[in-house]
Amino acid sequence: MQSLWQWLFETGHQQTFLAAIVALGLGLIIGWGVRRDRGLRLGKAIPDKGDKSFFKGIQYILSNDHDQAIEEFTKSVQINSDTIETYVALGNLYRSKGDIDRAIRIRQNIILRPTIDEQIALQALFDLGMDYRKGGFLNRALSTFQKVVQKDPAKLKALQEIEKIYEELKDWENAFRTRQKIARLIKGSHDHILAHHLVGMGKTHQQKGDINKATTFFNRAISTHKECVDAYLHLGDLYFAKRDYKKAISIWKEVVENVPQFTFLAYRRLEGAYAKMENLKPVENFLKECSELNSDAFTHLALARYLYNENDIEGALREISSALDLAPTFWEARRFKGEILLTQGKKEEALSAYRELIQDLSIPYLRFQCKQCGFMPKELQWQCPQCKNWDTIDLIDSGGALVKNT
Ligand SMILES: [Zn+2]
Repeated sequence: MQSLWQWLFETGHQQTFLAAIVALGLGLIIGWGVRRDRGLRLGKAIPDKGDKSFFKGIQYILSNDHDQAIEEFTKSVQINSDTIETYVALGNLYRSKGDIDRAIRIRQNIILRPTIDEQIALQALFDLGMDYRKGGFLNRALSTFQKVVQKDPAKLKALQEIEKIYEELKDWENAFRTRQKIARLIKGSHDHILAHHLVGMGKTHQQKGDINKATTFFNRAISTHKECVDAYLHLGDLYFAKRDYKKAISIWKEVVENVPQFTFLAYRRLEGAYAKMENLKPVENFLKECSELNSDAFTHLALARYLYNENDIEGALREISSALDLAPTFWEARRFKGEILLTQGKKEEALSAYRELIQDLSIPYLRFQCKQCGFMPKELQWQCPQCKNWDTIDLIDSGGALVKNT
């Protein structure tokens, strides 16, 4: 019953009209049954007027008219003050309207009732946590969800909320522990999430200057989830900072081998490396091996940058042409071409390269989208800023030639 209510009042679900109609039917039947049972138990008749307002309230919710729904539910509660489900509905409506104070008062009213069913009290405590969260009181929300878990350690939703708060607070150790508890409760893929938490712990140690601990955590992240790109990138950075370039490059190469769709991230790391490395032989070997593994536009651009750095202008322009043949709207390649032509004093050619660039400018080449909620962030992120899921953001293949093996 409680979960049905929660389901019914989640805004995302309200929009699903068909489902809402089913919920309405169910809600009416169950709601009526519960009220009738309680009425019989208490030995008193339920006033029809209260029921009427209650049903009207549900109809207003389904037509998304929250103000009218609140009015009807308030009437229903005034007539029949022991109807918990109406209180719950009112609390959820106040929360969805951002009236957190009122929502909280309603939860406390439910929790403080002396004869209340344990499960309903627990759900009200959980709802209170959600109110605090919506109101931005993260610490209070956290302690409320923890109380819920103390009473029922298998309360998955509370654990998931706790994990999200720890992630928001960047308390990775506790986020990690919470995910371990969740993993004991539900089957599914947890390793990639645990790996992100381990990377988070590594970053914290790195910021504190404890490179050894940071290295350990990045390695643990990789052994937990072989495709944790973030761990490879940061581990490579650590070795690079220690001037162990060979090791850094061999770690970035793991990205190319294990997660080829994110190869371009390894190339970006290389771009920053040219200026600092005296001997570029490892880079050359790396790129040669990459081009044997996959000859996509990113690889051609990376080769172009390398060759340009080696003063092989012709070679660089040749690689750029190959990249643009594969992916004509790859504006990063076009811009690089313009830069090279300008430094070579070829103003006319540069002008036409930039003219082509401007034509393609309205199409961002690297585009990302969350496959869970559809959100399109400007930059690649491992955790979706909208739905908070891990590793759901993918590169959208807009040219066909760029993203291979996906
Ligand atoms: Zn998302």
